[in-house]
Amino acid sequence: MKAALRRACVMGHPVAHSRSPMIHGYWLKTLGITGAYELKDLTPEEFPDFVTHLEKNGYVGGNVTVPHKEAAFRTVHGRDEAAEAVGAVNTLWLENGKLMGGNSDTHGFIANLDERAPGWKVPSCRAVVLGAGGAGRSAVYALKHRGVEVDIVNRTVSRAQDLASRFGAKAHGFDALPRLLREADLLVNCTSLGLAGKPPLEVDLGPLKPSAVVYDVVYVPLETGLLARARKRGQRTVDGLGMLLQQAGFGFRKWFGGSPQVTPELRRMVEADIVAKTSK
Ligand code: NAP
Repeated sequence: MKAALRRACVMGHPVAHSRSPMIHGYWLKTLGITGAYELKDLTPEEFPDFVTHLEKNGYVGGNVTVPHKEAAFRTVHGRDEAAEAVGAVNTLWLENGKLMGGNSDTHGFIANLDERAPGWKVPSCRAVVLGAGGAGRSAVYALKHRGVEVDIVNRTVSRAQDLASRFGAKAHGFDALPRLLREADLLVNCTSLGLAGKPPLEVDLGPLKPSAVVYDVVYVPLETGLLARARKRGQRTVDGLGMLLQQAGFGFRKWFGGSPQVTPELRRMVEADIVAKTSK
């Protein structure tokens, strides 16, 4: 008897821009796995019912994107440690018929850093994380998990304080940045500044140690203004595309199995799509 086709999807509103079908489609094809990964545009009214009956709707799991991550967090039967800590679910799968939720951004964030900047975690490592939104929460959680001392800098200092008290980090406004950069081994941008169409991130990198790594989770454009300036100073840099690619593997393994790898070919394919869509 032929096994049923395993299907996963990305649920969002809107969702047409998602690069997840391209990434998962690449792995399904190159790993020779019979499966499907689809786009599912669901309004906030449709999402809870759809996801509660995910299996009946023909899916073994999927990704959740804006604006459904908090609704997914509330709907699942169980959550992994990262989703619980970060307060958002972006990956769903079925375990013994029950809907489970995880957060793959935390995995993607740290796997990308490990891959692109080996040896980044020096003794007594200190990181400065700019931003206290969803990406900032994932980064702070992942870094604290590795034993890094983290300073969070955010425009709205109260948000940085909430995050800092949750994970044992320190909170600051942007005025503290020159002092913090002198001590930093890693600088991470988790604000939406520098994203195509948003204002630039204006940070003077002057005080940074030459050995410090600069990481921007924003990946449109592929090289943000921050990364370009850091590269010109000779700092090691890490872009955000690898985070997107690495986080995708987390869900793929749960739905389809196999060993999805972030290959140069996959990266080139997604890079070409970003360049094509941002140069229009
Ligand atoms: P979010 O939850 O909306 O948080 C946005 C953050 O940016 C907040 O800290 C906000 O500060 C700050 N910010 C926005 N406008 C600002 C301004 N004009 N001046 C100073 N700070 C400002 O967004 P998110 O989900 O964390 O996403 C942030 C970025 O990360 C996005 O560009 C997204 O594309 C990227 N991202 C990448 C990946 C990946 O896989 N590479 C994954 C997730 C997100 P306040 O708190 O003061 O508003």
